[in-house]
Amino acid sequence: MTAPPLISPTRIYVEPAAAELPRGRAVLDRFPDAELVEVASHWQIPELHGDEANARRWVRIKREALVLGVKKSLSARPNGRSAHFIAPSTANGCAMACAYCYVPRRKGYSNPITVFANIEQITGYLARHVARQGPKAEPDQVDDHAWVYDIGENSDCAVDALVSDNVRDLVELFRDLPTAKASFATKHVNRDLLDWDPQGRTRVRFSLMPDRIARLVDVRTSRIADRIAAIDDFVDAGYEVHLNFSPVIVHDGWLEDWAELLDQVEAGIGPKAKAQLACEVIMLTHNEALHEVNLGWHPKAEEVLWRPELQQAKWSQTGGRNVRYRTGAKGRYVAALTDLIAERLPSCRVRYAF
Ligand code: SF4
Repeated sequence: MTAPPLISPTRIYVEPAAAELPRGRAVLDRFPDAELVEVASHWQIPELHGDEANARRWVRIKREALVLGVKKSLSARPNGRSAHFIAPSTANGCAMACAYCYVPRRKGYSNPITVFANIEQITGYLARHVARQGPKAEPDQVDDHAWVYDIGENSDCAVDALVSDNVRDLVELFRDLPTAKASFATKHVNRDLLDWDPQGRTRVRFSLMPDRIARLVDVRTSRIADRIAAIDDFVDAGYEVHLNFSPVIVHDGWLEDWAELLDQVEAGIGPKAKAQLACEVIMLTHNEALHEVNLGWHPKAEEVLWRPELQQAKWSQTGGRNVRYRTGAKGRYVAALTDLIAERLPSCRVRYAF
């Protein structure tokens, strides 16, 4: 039996202004059999929020619904960790369903992909923003030479590329911007991207964690072995490829599992990939409300994600009560993992870890 496709829209919720733009029309043409539902705003579609207690239903919404909207406010926010700037989104939402994902808290539980049709405005804004920065004078942990723009903060670009050419347009934009790079983290291997000729100006950060845990918490994503197997191909196709070790989840035997993963990467990639390799390490942050929802559909995931004896709470302004590993212990976990990376995957520079 073949698995159903990750996304196969049968209903598209569309803002009229989006349908009038060339990209909007192209998305509608790509799915000619989908039923169209006119909406005033991509932010207010109650029937898409999903019933948090009914995982089967919200996963179906992820597969079958697509939203087409217009991104209203365009800004590039300073970041300084994974990138220098967070670019304005060309999509939000995701067809995957990782148990730890914070995205569902913003736009309802099922949170299918919303694709923004005003791509020309977004690429124009970005080109001007890059020009205003001028050349980058000093190397830093983000990049030696380029201003790096994260283009996938609120979605997974490799999946977005299944529904529109927005990500391709961004890759092509940055190809011609000698002082800047695009960057995105992904858990999906989309080999269509191999034909885009990015000429080193797009950094793909493949997210990795030990397969045993990924099978539990990374729902609807590409398997870890497939992500590792894609690294050399993406490097050969002209991408810079880094690793996003995130979220790092502490569980019984976690360092043994990480040693095995790092050995898999070491054995699975060639010298060209190793010569340009770097990673970021981000320990898990979880959330009490998400924990409650997950208990209803995926309690096994919560056995590794929700560990009150190891975690401490912090109230966030937007997302309620977050938990993270306790101060002190967390520093020891980070040190243990970065030491392990140095031992097992020595070609991989750690860009940052926290
Ligand atoms: S792939 Fe990323 S955006 Fe999508 S559900 Fe997983 S963590 Fe969230």
